[in-house]
Amino acid sequence: MASAAIASSSSSFINQRRNDVGLSSFSPNTSFYLSNAKKKMVSKNIVSVMAPQSQRTPSTTGSVKTGMTMTEKILARASEKPQLSPGENVWVNVDILMTHDVCGPGSIGIFKKEFGQNAKVWDREKLVIIPDHYIFTKDERANRNVDILRDFCNEQNIKYFYDINDLGNFKANPDYKGVCHVALAQEGHCRPGEVLLGTDSHTCTAGAFGQFATGIGNTDAGFVLGTGKLLLKVPPTLRFVMDGEMPDYLLAKDLILQIIGEISVSGATYKSMEFVGSTVESLSMEERMTLCNMVVEAGGKNGVIPADATTYKYLEDKTSLPYEALYSDEKARFLSEYRFDISKLEPLVAKPHSPDNRALARECKDVKIDRVYIGSCTGGKTEDFLAAAKVFLASGKKVKVPTFLVPATQKVWMDVYSLPVPGSGGKTCSQIFEEAGCDTPASPSCGACLGGPKDTYARMNEAQVCVSTTNRNFPGRMGHKEGQIYLASPYTAAASALTGYVTDPREFLQ
Ligand code: SF4
Repeated sequence: MASAAIASSSSSFINQRRNDVGLSSFSPNTSFYLSNAKKKMVSKNIVSVMAPQSQRTPSTTGSVKTGMTMTEKILARASEKPQLSPGENVWVNVDILMTHDVCGPGSIGIFKKEFGQNAKVWDREKLVIIPDHYIFTKDERANRNVDILRDFCNEQNIKYFYDINDLGNFKANPDYKGVCHVALAQEGHCRPGEVLLGTDSHTCTAGAFGQFATGIGNTDAGFVLGTGKLLLKVPPTLRFVMDGEMPDYLLAKDLILQIIGEISVSGATYKSMEFVGSTVESLSMEERMTLCNMVVEAGGKNGVIPADATTYKYLEDKTSLPYEALYSDEKARFLSEYRFDISKLEPLVAKPHSPDNRALARECKDVKIDRVYIGSCTGGKTEDFLAAAKVFLASGKKVKVPTFLVPATQKVWMDVYSLPVPGSGGKTCSQIFEEAGCDTPASPSCGACLGGPKDTYARMNEAQVCVSTTNRNFPGRMGHKEGQIYLASPYTAAASALTGYVTDPREFLQ
């Protein structure tokens, strides 16, 4: 009885989605879009990236007739098609689905409604559930969301549920991780060539691993929970070639603020953003994650960076699953190509209230600030705290405004308290932060990146001016609607904390 109900419910849902495919595949808008895109497509001389030895048995993509971009090839593999072009709608097999405490309950509700109360998820080992957003709060609705996730994971025997029970001491919860996008990487769920979907717009962060990663809504997630598949339109690709030695006062945050400032917050709408070039190759995995994290701030569908030795090194102790990295063909067609000489770039900020409101940090030196926030999936990783500590160490001074530190995950928090900061004689970040007068590093979570309930640590409850290593500066994003957020790198954030004004980090790093 139950299974008949499930079959009937799920097939009507699937049929509805298939009808959706028919409608959207052949709509006049799509034809216009395709012909327009074809007209614009240009072949470029691209940087040739050698594909390493495959670690997976023969490619499932078949013989390639026309050059494809990395994103097209990944989606071709996932949809078991030999060839794909931008604008095509394809059913892809999902390798990993991630959800969290904000969108998980809604996705679960849709799954149960459409597939039946007793339905089982398509694969208990491919679903990763990470409470991270509204965790350290007394807000009952927020707490209830985590309870819903826990009940569902118990019911479905989900393998990867990073639970938290004791809110008073996060260290008493060994399973608890923290911010989903950082935890996904640290726990080995990001693998080259795969498709990772998540109910969070910054799921694009995982493109740093040479995979297709994008955010989806609760309805789509409910469908993936039941089937392991999703209908996706293949995006065209914009290519960003960054060459030149990265000056030691810049971080990946400056690179992505430069790009978003260049193309605007709608410049990559439903497009893939592929990052290549000698500068990108020189970046660590965490810095590559920062770069890909903010592609959605330009409207990007996904961001990708070709996997290389740095990627494989990072993955060495994180996953034992086989994967196959895929790379853009030499004859791949890109919608546009942008080139940057990074050696000439200066530290940047995005002024209120848009991530594309780019300015040089030094141009904003008269902007008085009330606080600094270092945290989030963009700027709360281990290397972000090491970068901030480097500035505090170089200055030897104390901060002039409240400076809040929110490690993204439990692992980052432990690094902050244990890793020696280079050139410090063995001091940890936490020691340097304490000497500089910063607030004690908080429990790992999304924290005040998106405001959250009123009692969220470091939430902007007043109309203040904040320099933040986060990714969004829309009105109200960190709490107060009249708050002003300057997005910046951890270097610039730390330098600004030391002066009480938006400050170019070269003031302390040179
Ligand atoms: S840290 Fe901020 S941007 Fe990242 S997932 Fe959490 S709320 Fe979203």
